[in-house]
Amino acid sequence: MARGEGGKDGGAREGNQARDDASASDGPSTRLTHPRIDIPEGFRAFPTAVSRASTTLFPNVAALREAETQSDPLWSYGLNSTPTQMELAQRLAQMEGGAHCLLLPSGLSAISLTLFACLKAGDEILAPDNAYGPLRTHANWLARDYGLQVRYYDPMLGAGVGALISPQTKLIWIETPGSVTMELPDVPAIAAAARGILTAMDHTWTGGLLIRPFELGVDISIQALTKYQSGASDVLMGSVVTRDAALHTRLLKIRKLLGLGVSSDDCYFILRSLPTLAARLRAHEERALALAQWLRERPEVYRVLHPAFPECPGHVNWLRDYSGASSLFSAVFHQRFGQSRIDAFIDDLRLFGIGYSWGGAHSLALPYDIPAMRSAASWPPADWPAREDAGILVRFYCGLEDAPDLIEDVRQSMARHLV
Ligand SMILES: *Cc1c(COP(=O)(O)O)cnc(C)c1O
Repeated sequence: MARGEGGKDGGAREGNQARDDASASDGPSTRLTHPRIDIPEGFRAFPTAVSRASTTLFPNVAALREAETQSDPLWSYGLNSTPTQMELAQRLAQMEGGAHCLLLPSGLSAISLTLFACLKAGDEILAPDNAYGPLRTHANWLARDYGLQVRYYDPMLGAGVGALISPQTKLIWIETPGSVTMELPDVPAIAAAARGILTAMDHTWTGGLLIRPFELGVDISIQALTKYQSGASDVLMGSVVTRDAALHTRLLKIRKLLGLGVSSDDCYFILRSLPTLAARLRAHEERALALAQWLRERPEVYRVLHPAFPECPGHVNWLRDYSGASSLFSAVFHQRFGQSRIDAFIDDLRLFGIGYSWGGAHSLALPYDIPAMRSAASWPPADWPAREDAGILVRFYCGLEDAPDLIEDVRQSMARHLV
């Protein structure tokens, strides 16, 4: 096949055809590096072809020179884009109702890219007090060493966030539901109160499917694809989806400056999982609701924090803004069970792993010390009855095991340790 004759489905092969095939008089190493291959046209299949590349090839020097004049040349370097990366980015942007998507090597790097792109020395970020822990650590680091300001707000403040805005405020962070404590903020009220200041929302819990970030008025949508989109606990990736082209360009520029990109192989794993995402979320939701309902009736439990339950702070916002629930929720146990009994309860669960990153087929459980994670809002919330009884919080993630088995597992370990 001559150069450039890739044909419609020949994109992956064109890379091997960048120069002429070796001729019979070339040496063995040359024939190995410039092989003569001839794969017939017409192969059709559902999976995306994986286009791996560090170097992407220009057809000639003029095209290379032309690319150097552009801010975002199409195929210029493997770190910036490959067809596989582009397919995943387009599908995620469409799924969330956005227009553009950038892929990052982790959810946390999607967060840090957004901070770097939206803030410079002297600027201020408003962040909810229940934010994902590493976001707090990252923002505090920028505040300490890079001259940024960070101000934490009560996640249930809603439109009240507007009163915290100062001339330095350049970014308002939103997380829904809040990490671990599951509060559901009034997103449209915060977005409206932002009055043009950029808003970024981490809604990893929704798998990108259960809420419409842009219709709620948010500018930047963040997902840890590591979780439900991967669904198999084997890939780390994050996404930043936007509608506004100028904002996307700004984020893209910083992504390039930081040298951040993803591997096409990892994209393939996520592309492979996307068609089952909605079905998996429903199966996860069902299991989590069954366990949460059961825990809610138990005397050992002070309160279950699940967005679908009325006692979850901001439940009305869940009713208004969400099309379903996923499978991460928390249970606050009674104060009388100290940390060591709660730890023993978790240790003796048979089906729940002890680990951070959820979204796969396996259930998980972790204890959290919430007061140590707060600086702006009191914990437990002031309006909880007999709040001195609220003790250790355990975050449960329900995978895809059968719900009765998950319930039985929690029952047996509670019977042994929470007596
Ligand atoms: C897991 C998670 C992240 C980070 O994702 P990683 O890919 O593990 O870096 C960010 N935000 C939320 C809400 C998460 O749950």
